[in-house]
Amino acid sequence: MKIDQFAENDNRAVYLLSLGAAETVTGSKHLLKTPELNLLIDCGLFQGIKSMREKNWEPLPVDPSSIGAMILTHAHLDHCGYIPLLVKNGYRGKIYMSKPTRDLTELILRDSAKLQEEDAHKANKHGYTRHSPAKPLYTTADVEAALRYFEPVDAGKPYRLSDHIQFQLYPGGHIPGACSVAIDCYHKTIVFSGDIGRYHSELFPLPVHAAKADFVIMESTYGDRLHGAGNTGAELAFIIKDTIFNKGSMLIPCFAVGRAQEVMHLLYKLKFQKDIPVEIPVFLDSPMAASASKTLVKYPEWITIAPKEVSRMFSGLTINQDYEGTEKIIKRKGSKIVLAASGMLTGGRVLEYLKHYITDPKNTILIIGYQAEGTRGRALLNQTHEIKIHGQYYAVKARVKEIGGLSAHADQAELLTWLRDFEVVPPHIYLVHGEPCAQEALRVKIKDELHINPIILKQDQKEFLFDIETNMV
Ligand SMILES: [Zn+2]
Repeated sequence: MKIDQFAENDNRAVYLLSLGAAETVTGSKHLLKTPELNLLIDCGLFQGIKSMREKNWEPLPVDPSSIGAMILTHAHLDHCGYIPLLVKNGYRGKIYMSKPTRDLTELILRDSAKLQEEDAHKANKHGYTRHSPAKPLYTTADVEAALRYFEPVDAGKPYRLSDHIQFQLYPGGHIPGACSVAIDCYHKTIVFSGDIGRYHSELFPLPVHAAKADFVIMESTYGDRLHGAGNTGAELAFIIKDTIFNKGSMLIPCFAVGRAQEVMHLLYKLKFQKDIPVEIPVFLDSPMAASASKTLVKYPEWITIAPKEVSRMFSGLTINQDYEGTEKIIKRKGSKIVLAASGMLTGGRVLEYLKHYITDPKNTILIIGYQAEGTRGRALLNQTHEIKIHGQYYAVKARVKEIGGLSAHADQAELLTWLRDFEVVPPHIYLVHGEPCAQEALRVKIKDELHINPIILKQDQKEFLFDIETNMV
């Protein structure tokens, strides 16, 4: 249904419409529909299971040209990956974001377009497509057209969008440049959490947000679990030493932006402290992760370590740029640690390593980030016996380990801390960006501990927030 077909008191009401990341963790798109301006917060791709990915090909239930402005919370693909299509389909407003997010989003979108172009090319060449010819969801040219609407802004400063609407970004931890957004809208404050970072991060500052909120739309990825209070470094060192003892290698699938840098930093520290053998080779097989790491140096105010320490992260680490290099690393004898994208094993070079490492019990696959439903990473965590890569099945014999402490997302306790950090607990809380079990656990916990019953938003649900004349909620 087109949202313009709903409509009573639309000239007086502010609505929230969930166009993605509703009862799932990808496709973040939240529309604030106000009498003055329609404002989109995030514009991400759906990822994971096929039925989810197919949603990227469906038109939005709202005309992109009717959206006046957009704010991007951070550079992950599930928050920014649909932007080229939004612009292609008629959006002409500004896209506001922090400065590091601007740089990282360009990297991520160019990479996304390139992968889609390559996939379409391969599908056409080998004839494994139902669509003839197979087409990319968007191209590099579409990304370039979208970049023209990017408007980097400073966190901590208000920006006016219209007579009654202004917004401000607050650093949210998670990855460089990630923010929560507070929108002052007709004298009420609506906070979108974006992805909430950790309260114990090696690299990123504590997540912060506006002091007060009338409405909060918050993520709930880990609404049902705790990452554990263990020493993450010691845990990682133990698994590495154990793998070396078994004469195996370790593969760490990681998101190129955020996770890769945090693990690089931790590995450097472990070597420096001699908690792991200094001579164990570490490979970063992700040119995008290497480029993303440079943003840490460019924007030191967004991280908690000195730029000098960022350069040290690269010592004792070999960055690979091309596929020939990947082959060489795979064939290299002896134990090694490989960091490669994609973080959920959905594509990219990590699959080349997985094919070679997964069938040998000496090796370890270390999962450190969230693995969405339907991804190979989730299947491994669910102890699948085989895994399909590029049309072939591989028996899962390598050990699969997980370190929750390296996650970029707040756990249940941290999500509650984030809510308690408001001067007064927000009276209206909406949960997004979580799978149903996690969301339900968090809903009950918030209700029991903070005495507010949050609403779990559904896909395309249009939620009345308030009447601008009566202020009635
Ligand atoms: Zn994220």
